[in-house]
Order: sequence, then structure tokens, then C-alpha cells
Amino acid sequence: MVKFIALITAAGSGSRMGEDIPKQYRPLAGKPMIYHALRTLCSIARISTVCIVLAPEDTEWIRHNWREFAGKIQIFNCGGATRAESVTNGLKALRAANHVQDQDWILVHDAARPGLSTTLVERLLDQLADDEVGGLLAVPLADTLKRADDAGRVIRTEPRERLWQAQTPQMFRMKLLLEALEKAPAGITDDASAVEALGLSPKLVVGNAYNFKVTYPRDLKLAELILRERAIT
Ligand code: C5P
Repeated sequence: MVKFIALITAAGSGSRMGEDIPKQYRPLAGKPMIYHALRTLCSIARISTVCIVLAPEDTEWIRHNWREFAGKIQIFNCGGATRAESVTNGLKALRAANHVQDQDWILVHDAARPGLSTTLVERLLDQLADDEVGGLLAVPLADTLKRADDAGRVIRTEPRERLWQAQTPQMFRMKLLLEALEKAPAGITDDASAVEALGLSPKLVVGNAYNFKVTYPRDLKLAELILRERAIT
């Protein structure tokens, strides 16, 4: 039977947050940031294993208690210089350690997206389980788009029809994803771009704004509000 395996990327340094502690461990609603997506993914029955890709020099992971996820998680200290490298290394480590088949599904998710809900993961699984290519959560663009010059003045307004903001999880089959990432052009920032470069068209599955990527210090407050609201509803 085809398996669903989640892979959380957590090997970044989070330099845009301007802190010593990597972004994925910043406290959020009483837990390290990575805890929230980890909990969501571990709670999905159809997902058999959740792998976490950490930086080789990570010293934070062991400082926290992850006992509640025992049996479902697997840690790989094999992060690379870029996100794409971290995913590639993680997939190779996963293949070496487990009985992963070429056709098994991998859901790659950023630790920096703590607002992922079980509803979104279930929707992704439902809509892609029989898909030929795979796909990703994404949100249709709502705002008007402006292109700027170097001085920060508007050159023109860009049409926003059919534009989507990519999120994670991004879900592709093991063999396809690894092949795509190994052949990918430098500078790609998500897994779907690598698959697109093979000439394939990943499916867009509607996500929501709560699943945004925490990038700057100002994002922490919003993420905290979302997580606290969810805890009481
Ligand atoms: O830096 P950015 O926020 O775009 O990173 C997105 C996700 O990829 C984060 O969860 C980060 O930890 C991870 N990442 C990684 N390896 C890198 C860079 C980023 O696993 N070299």
C-alpha cells in the first residue's frame, strides 16, 4: 500500500528574524515554533511517519521534550545550505533508513508555518492521493500587485488573475521529488518549482492565510494569536 510520509524542513538559520536562536525554535504559544506543525502532522492517521530535517550543528532539538510524538517521528541531522538541499538530503536519509517505495507520497512542510491545520492536510491528501503529479497548498492572490523601480515607485500594476501564493505542505511521490530536486536549477525556493522544471504541472489545492510562513519578528504576534485562538475553539 502507498504510504504518506511528512518531511518537515527545520534546518534554516532564520537570519531574517535577527535572533541567535533559529526561527523554528522561537517560543510560540508556549512551545517551540516547530511543535505546532509537528503536532498537526502527527495527528493525521493516514500519515505513517513524520521526518524532521535538522541542521547537522543543531543543539536546540534535544533541549525540548518530544515524548508525545515517540513512535511517529524520525530525526535526520542532514540539513544543507539551502532548503532544496535540506529536502534532498532528507529524502536520501529517509530512503536509506526506511522501506520507502518510489510511489510513496512525501509531504514537505516548513517548520516555519505553525498555523497548518488538520483540515488543510486532510484536504491535500483527499485531493491529491490519486493525482498523477502531486501538488501543493496555495492561496489565490487577493491584493492588487504593484511592480516597483529601484526608488520604490510604482512602474505598473500587474494583473493578478490566476496568481497564487505557494504554501506547504507540497506533496509529491518519493521518486519524482528526488529526481526533480537533483535536476533542479539553482535558486528554487520550493519543491513544486523543481517538479515544474521537469515540465509537469502540480495541482493547486486551496489553503488559507493562517498557514503563512513566519519570516520577520512582526509575524510572531500574528502566529501567536492564530494558535491561541485555535487552542480555545
Ligand atoms: O528561510 P525560510 O523561512 O524560507 O525557510 C523555510 C523553511 O525551510 C524553514 O522551516 C527552514 O528551517 C527550512 N530550511 C532548511 N534548510 C535550509 C534553509 C531553510 O531546512 N538551508
